Amino acid sequence: MKAISEILTQVSSVAVIGHVRPDGDCVGACLGLMNYLKLAAPALKVQVYLESFSESFLFLKGAETVSADSCDGQTYDLCIALDASDRERLGAFAGYFDHAGKTVCIDHHITNTGYADIMHVCPQSSSTCQVLYTLMDDAYVDQSAAECLYMGIVHDTGVFRHSNTTRETMEIAGRLMDKGIDFSALIDRTFFEKTYRQNQILGRMLTESVLFMDGLCVFSAMRHKIMEFYQAAPKDLDGIVDQLRVIKGVECAIFLYETAPQEFKVSMRSNKTVDVSRVAAVFGGGGHIRAAGCTMAGTVYDVLNNLSEHIEKQLIEQGLR
Ligand code: 5GP
Ligand code: MN
Repeated sequence: MKAISEILTQVSSVAVIGHVRPDGDCVGACLGLMNYLKLAAPALKVQVYLESFSESFLFLKGAETVSADSCDGQTYDLCIALDASDRERLGAFAGYFDHAGKTVCIDHHITNTGYADIMHVCPQSSSTCQVLYTLMDDAYVDQSAAECLYMGIVHDTGVFRHSNTTRETMEIAGRLMDKGIDFSALIDRTFFEKTYRQNQILGRMLTESVLFMDGLCVFSAMRHKIMEFYQAAPKDLDGIVDQLRVIKGVECAIFLYETAPQEFKVSMRSNKTVDVSRVAAVFGGGGHIRAAGCTMAGTVYDVLNNLSEHIEKQLIEQGLR
């Protein structure tokens, strides 16, 4: 696929969907595409479906039109899935996908399973927002679409710090800056700003973190009881694993939070050696080489033992153990 326009022939209605627990890239991509289509294809009916997301994204144009309704009875000529690496990641919105006349997936996950009629996956791209921009006609990217796309790039690159940041990432970000966005406020408001509660949780999880494998790995785990104590939602836990990753000497950081009794959502980050997408894929998850996740059953120690086995295997292969 070379351009969004290619998939719009004989299409008059589009559902745009993202993945469960939508992050900045996912929300930015869905709203960015919606704002773009409003200008590029004004006659098109476009509806975005997403689970509840961070309030800090609500200022983006069109955020108030997003529906969280997973069965409103609508069917669409086209369903576009963004930033979702497999069908399960579509969660409750898979119904719109299954009943659409045609399906398209635009993504950047190396672990993408190729589940749509038309696939456009660029694993070398920093973000789905970066991929999307390359499929757009710049003439129809206005300030509101630019804000959305820029936000997605900022979030998936950790503000242009992660190794997925390339010259192309910076060039596209530059073109989006040309649209007159207030990029510095956008970065502060959506990426760095934390609520008091989020900061307290971050502090607690850092205090309780444990180094293992001679300091090559670190983990921290959030129990359900503690989540309840802080009245924390999963979106309040963003950024904890990234702070664990920057501990000196650490190659692999693991953050767990309890989603059900004996069930944990796993977030992994690595620095130079370990391909965490391979580790996550063993347990039915996925992601990128340096950032991946999955859901696992058992106690915290069961989960850590199972993950460690695969992490250590890679460290041994690389001569680090
Ligand atoms: P995070 O740790 O920030 O939740 O996710 C890091 C990366 O791994 C993201 O790109 C996300 O899409 C991917 N990821 C996280 N959890 C899962 C999962 O359960 N399944 C799959 N396929 N990917 C995941
Ligand atoms: Mn992404």
